[in-house]
Amino acid sequence: MKIAILSRNPKLYSTRRMVEAGEAAGHEVHVIDTLRCYMSMASNKPEIHYRGKTLEGFDAVIPRIGASVTFYGTAVLRQFEMMGVYPVNESVAITRSRDKLRSMQLLSRKGVGLPVTGFANAPDDIPDLISMVGGAPLVIKLLQGTQGIGVVLAETRKAAESVIEAFMGLNADIMVQEYIKEAGGADIRCFVVDGKVVAAMKRQAKEGEFRSNLHRGGSASLIRITPEERATAARAARIMGLNVAGVDLLRSNHGPLVMEVNSSPGLEGIENATGKDVAAMIIKMIEKQAKPNRTGTKGARG
Ligand code: ADP
Repeated sequence: MKIAILSRNPKLYSTRRMVEAGEAAGHEVHVIDTLRCYMSMASNKPEIHYRGKTLEGFDAVIPRIGASVTFYGTAVLRQFEMMGVYPVNESVAITRSRDKLRSMQLLSRKGVGLPVTGFANAPDDIPDLISMVGGAPLVIKLLQGTQGIGVVLAETRKAAESVIEAFMGLNADIMVQEYIKEAGGADIRCFVVDGKVVAAMKRQAKEGEFRSNLHRGGSASLIRITPEERATAARAARIMGLNVAGVDLLRSNHGPLVMEVNSSPGLEGIENATGKDVAAMIIKMIEKQAKPNRTGTKGARG
């Protein structure tokens, strides 16, 4: 098969591993810089141009679209879809998952366990917003944040009020969330491929920090997850319409809670922590699913 990887940098671990796994299985793999693709949209003839040539003959496309290029990246991916190329994750599912609030709304409708989360616009509503999520301590999250940046733990109601007011004053979109203290600064990353959790790791925040992001100094280790955690992660990915997803869970004293569903989960942390060849599993899924004009995922409407 001829496989495209949409990625800005061929040197990134995840990109390199997908190339290796694809070539090891006998496929022709091309890394394509998302931002160098340009498109023409004439009637019945969708095309992608790349460094002066048209891209042709691809059977599948693996999107590795960074949060900062979501708009352009999903437009390029959609163009591949218009050309009938099978996407590992569909553009609409990526767009859906990039909006933290929209994701929570879709998951909540389907009864997936979530930390109680609130969203508001007017400063007058702050006191009730705080009460709605159970009061302080609580977590305030910038909707645009990634890698733990813009995630704040407010220990008291006073602190929560000031921080929320400040964010609102800057016109930043935020959500307010119940703090899951019993998670103990740890979360579980479940890597889902083709409807199944194929690898899981625990990420533990460094001393004195509640955010377990590896970029924030967290450390990863192997973990055995419960059947309930496994089912919750697989379900969350399905609801979002993602074939490949990183589902982040918090262990609460009332079961697993989904914190986030990531549509371009990194391979480095999970492969190193588990020793599993996740890249090869993604290639296997492509071999099984890729057919012209088949996207494979439908997901939730919305
Ligand atoms: P990002 O998408 O920027 O990584 P997250 O929402 O995943 O932001 O939050 C970053 C980290 O903060 C999580 O990995 C988790 O360890 C911690 N965290 C986030 N929300 C909560 C919460 N409601 N309760 C406890 N810890 C949380």
